Amino acid sequence: MINILTPVSQGDGVVLKAPLSGYILPIEQVPDPVFAQKMVGDGISIDPISNVLIAPCDGEIIQIHPSYHALTLKTPEGLEVLMHIGLNTVTLRGEGFQPKVKMGDRIQTGDPLIEFDIDYVALNAKSLLTQIVITNSDQVVDFKTYSGYAIAGENVILELSLIPKVSENIPTSNQIITSDEITIPNPTGLHARPSAVLANLAKKYQSKIRLKRGDQDANVKSVVALMGLEVNHGDRVVLIAQGADAAAAIAELCEAIRSGLGEEGTPPMAAPASIAKLDIAAPPPHRRSDDPNLLLGVAASSGVAVGYTFRVREQEIKVVERGDNPNTERRKLETAIEQAKLEVEALRAKIHGQGDPGKAAIFAAHQELLEDPELMEISTSAIDKGNSAAFAWKQTFTNSAEELAKLHNELLSQRANDVRDVGQRVLRILTGVNSTKPIYPNHTILIAEDLTPSDMATLDRSKVIGFCTVAGGTTSHVAILARSLGIPAIAGTEAQVLDLTDGTPVILDGNKGTLKLNPTSAEMEQVKALQIKIAEKRKADVANGMKPAMTQDGYRMEVVANIGSKIEAETSVQLGGEGVGLLRTEFIFMDRSSAPTEDEQTEIYSSIAQVLGKEKPLIIRTLDVGGDKPLPYLPIPHEENPFLGERGIRVGFDRPEILRTQLRAILRSATSGNLKILFPMIARLEEIKMAKAMLEEEREKLKTPGVSVGIMVEIPAAAMMAEQFAKEVDFFSIGTNDLTQYTLAMDRGHPKLAPFVDGLNPALLKLIDLTVKGANQQGKWVGVCGGIASDSQAIPLLIGLGVKELSVSVPSIPTIKAQIRELSLVQCQELAQKALNAETGAEVRALVEAG
Ligand code: PEP
Ligand code: MG
Repeated sequence: MINILTPVSQGDGVVLKAPLSGYILPIEQVPDPVFAQKMVGDGISIDPISNVLIAPCDGEIIQIHPSYHALTLKTPEGLEVLMHIGLNTVTLRGEGFQPKVKMGDRIQTGDPLIEFDIDYVALNAKSLLTQIVITNSDQVVDFKTYSGYAIAGENVILELSLIPKVSENIPTSNQIITSDEITIPNPTGLHARPSAVLANLAKKYQSKIRLKRGDQDANVKSVVALMGLEVNHGDRVVLIAQGADAAAAIAELCEAIRSGLGEEGTPPMAAPASIAKLDIAAPPPHRRSDDPNLLLGVAASSGVAVGYTFRVREQEIKVVERGDNPNTERRKLETAIEQAKLEVEALRAKIHGQGDPGKAAIFAAHQELLEDPELMEISTSAIDKGNSAAFAWKQTFTNSAEELAKLHNELLSQRANDVRDVGQRVLRILTGVNSTKPIYPNHTILIAEDLTPSDMATLDRSKVIGFCTVAGGTTSHVAILARSLGIPAIAGTEAQVLDLTDGTPVILDGNKGTLKLNPTSAEMEQVKALQIKIAEKRKADVANGMKPAMTQDGYRMEVVANIGSKIEAETSVQLGGEGVGLLRTEFIFMDRSSAPTEDEQTEIYSSIAQVLGKEKPLIIRTLDVGGDKPLPYLPIPHEENPFLGERGIRVGFDRPEILRTQLRAILRSATSGNLKILFPMIARLEEIKMAKAMLEEEREKLKTPGVSVGIMVEIPAAAMMAEQFAKEVDFFSIGTNDLTQYTLAMDRGHPKLAPFVDGLNPALLKLIDLTVKGANQQGKWVGVCGGIASDSQAIPLLIGLGVKELSVSVPSIPTIKAQIRELSLVQCQELAQKALNAETGAEVRALVEAG
């Protein structure tokens, strides 16, 4: 049952005149999804014939793009009108545009804003179509658009009815809907994950939506605000929505909350052991030790480490309290947040590349925080009072983190650290203060009040062998990260740990949750002996790194590297890598805001080829964006199922110029080494034919020799059609990360499903078998570049199934080569046949262990 209130007053209106002369086009018809799908906001487009953009209404200039192809003005009613000349005009970097106004200028209808060279833009940009978009469309209740030919400054192109401005406590939209009471079913209340799910669902709606419990309430679109409300299991809440789509919002959100936001009814064992078990655990007891040489904490990540303490202190960033004009400060904050999103995205993608969905999910939560409307709203209101962006932001995130830290619910209070982490990142960008990276001594056990996920994602693993924090518990992201890095850690440790002098010898026991101070030499020796054994093995493997990976019975495997940079190529060669099986080109350009040119790409591919020399293969994969790997300069419209949508080669076909530029760069680099091209996300035979045709067209134009072509076998259809595909290509590279997710229909980044997304599931082995057989029929070879190529339990099976090349993470090259030298092909083949008949992934792994 929902209750509807009717609006109490009518809206104001704003009329926009044509800023250019030309034909009017509905925004939906603009050939750029960012505009057509109204991601920027609703509006209209003009195909211009005049060359001076004039003001469509009175207002103030609040933003001018540094390339002068777009600006935003704010009307006296508060509407923000973005005018964007042409499509992809950002790439012209200002060439052909001349601004006639500056930030903060007050302008009147008809005033010139930007003059542009219409011929130059027409020739050099994707299109001249100019978009007039209301970026805060949520303020508009009705858009009346005009069609036909418009004369600049004369004809009206848009009439907008605004949400009425009314005094406080009076509804501010046409409809307010209140839900019935809902009882929270989640066993641990609305902690970070369900809050994020709810906020995400709510963001689909334009209505303002609040969640009310008793006399407290929170903005449902804000994860921070929801967590701050500390909604517990059994609490009764009510949703209140206000806006045009309030009814639909209430209906969907009520249902989602009632069904547990993806949590309720999930048996604990269905979640990854490392997370689910911990999520429902009671807060860790605060243990105290009577032994002055033993400090107690909770076991956060298993393993034992012997080393010396090193205290990490949080960097205090000083900020100036008063700011410039509020518009400028607001833009500074928005730009810094955008930059932070790119950084977090890059970290997330890097981690995704290491095949660690649990870790990548943590950075997804950080992105969520960066989009949090509550943090933005509070900061903006502080800015409006004259504070600088840095001061306002620092105060906002520090207060939010403190509020969260005070909460009784352990899961929520631990998210305070994530807020601080994200907050510091934005603050560093705002102030230009670089994070200082300490130089860690060897065998460092990090001691900190708390560590942030960003600290952990970037730390020097060759020096740091354990963590010990005062804050946090088993569920903190830091603990999850420590587990995924395989580094022993304890959390919630007694605070005296912070008083230890740097360099104090300690034994950190991540299994028991203890830190032994000044251990006896016998105790140190025992642990060290074990570590030495592991280190010696590693040393021997590295020393033998250049030896071929030949099995005992003479079967030669190629062990090559998965890389995303030139530095990784260099390290791989030093460690005995026999080439590069996968260059993820999307990683090279992750931090770019504009597409790399053909010359820039040629330069980087050639330089990597030179590192490898003429013999070692360099397999360059064309851009694999989409899914969970966005690229800042290649925005992909929001999709319901991004992994099943525009991704990999599909993006290349949609934006052929980007693909063709890359193909030309690869062809031009081919003389520098032994280059091969790999196309990602091939599902249908027509796709590889089309990709090859494009490659051939470019090759003919350049008059260069041809290069070998392969496809990623990462979609089940490609594996099943391997025989047909093998006629078209020179080799296959099996991407088991995606092949696993698409075969099992389990998102590779899903934290709950993570333990089941096992590349050794017999279904996967059957697809690998099919791929190899299909390739063999045509005399082609098969490599594996997905995560299982670096999994010691998978290696005998891949050899046994007839795979010829393993493309692995760089550090694991020597260990994998050493492992292969211990194996026998015949035994691997027997094992593989048994594994193909196994019933479960666990059974396959048990077979490998036994065999
Ligand atoms: C894969 O899918 O296994 C693969 C290697 O590609 P990526 O991880 O980059 O999607
Ligand atoms: Mg893939």
